[in-house]
Amino acid sequence: MQRDEQIFELIQAENERQLHGLELIASENFVSEQVMEAAGSVLTNKYAEGYPGKRYYGGCEVVDEVEQIAIDRAKALFGAEYVNVQPHSGSQANTAVYHACLTPGDKILGFDLSHGGHLTHGSPVNFSGKLYNPVFYGVEEETGVLNYDKIQEIATKEQPKLIIAGASAYSRDIDFARFRVIADSVGAILMADISHPAGMIAKGILNDPMPHCHIVTTTTHKTLRGPRGGMIMMGKDFDNPFGITLKDGSLRKMSSLLDSAVFPGNQGGPLEHIIAAKAIAFGEALTDEFLHYQLQVKANAAALAKALVAKGYNIISGGTDNHCMLIDLRNKDISGKDAEQALVKADITVNKNMVPFDTRSPFVTSGIRIGAAAVTTRGLKEAEMEQIVELIDEVIMNYQDEAVLEAVADKVNALMADRPLFVA
Ligand code: PLP
Repeated sequence: MQRDEQIFELIQAENERQLHGLELIASENFVSEQVMEAAGSVLTNKYAEGYPGKRYYGGCEVVDEVEQIAIDRAKALFGAEYVNVQPHSGSQANTAVYHACLTPGDKILGFDLSHGGHLTHGSPVNFSGKLYNPVFYGVEEETGVLNYDKIQEIATKEQPKLIIAGASAYSRDIDFARFRVIADSVGAILMADISHPAGMIAKGILNDPMPHCHIVTTTTHKTLRGPRGGMIMMGKDFDNPFGITLKDGSLRKMSSLLDSAVFPGNQGGPLEHIIAAKAIAFGEALTDEFLHYQLQVKANAAALAKALVAKGYNIISGGTDNHCMLIDLRNKDISGKDAEQALVKADITVNKNMVPFDTRSPFVTSGIRIGAAAVTTRGLKEAEMEQIVELIDEVIMNYQDEAVLEAVADKVNALMADRPLFVA
């Protein structure tokens, strides 16, 4: 068969874009060669509906081993008693948890999307806001941080069945122990969505949700630096609180409900090539090098925030504890959309983002979100973070001046020249 040059040329073009540019999108990262190799392997050819040892297809002996290794490594990495590595994405992981714990119309309490939450935490444009009855908590206007007393008040008033602790754009550590007190006070199930800071949590740099939250979901491709995908975990399995019994009359375990919610409830065949890539990424994450990487991500994010504040940029909450931050551009006379577009012309990739209490629409926004996970994988350190802030500022101050944007792109390309995507 003829090689599909049309697509391979585009893949090469994307490779060049990634190599020459500065990747500051907080949810992105660069995987290792071996993670990429597994993701592009013959495992993509295999159907394996079911779970290791209990499949609906023949010939699953090899993928059974692969999936079991992925599960075991994830358990070791996060200190979890239960792991399901099959969700195709973070959204699928959250869908499966809701499917296992809720019936349509049930109330859920999540982090407001416009304050830093995720679509799947109850947004009206997402299945989570259409199928369930969402109420929200958010950050304080003056401080940009969560006020746990207020979350308690909302929970007491609204009596949600499920509470979601976690965010897509929140730069502060989350107090999962406090969330558990709130959940227990109203008899709610507590789910942590650690998609963004999972890599830092795995290495003990941020608060650990596992002892406090009933269920923990994550993506595998952000700070965790694995292939695109999702995962569901529990620190400890427990009897389901919904009275769902087995044939012998005993209560079904939550693990059993979650497994059924993923398959057959929500997905068909698992992506065993991606599960192999997850296993490799978890193996990498278990090493000391990964701890050094996460410490550098944290140091780089702090350096970015410090340099931005020094240049008069408002960071929501004033700084960062993790890999990311939200920049409020309302004092800079530029929208998030214009900033994103100008930065892209200068080969710097960020995403526009609503800021808390934003008056602009989600298509325009007043902010941008940036993160340090990807640039740290490329080997950049604190000194380069200061250079990056100089470049961002040059773009934002001259966003309509094409000559300046081109000159900044040249500087970006020089900074990134001869750096592989993944520095071992
Ligand atoms: N949960 C959070 C907190 C996220 O930030 C994201 C992705 O950005 C997701 C879930 C969804 O992940 P995916 O894009 O893999 O569906």
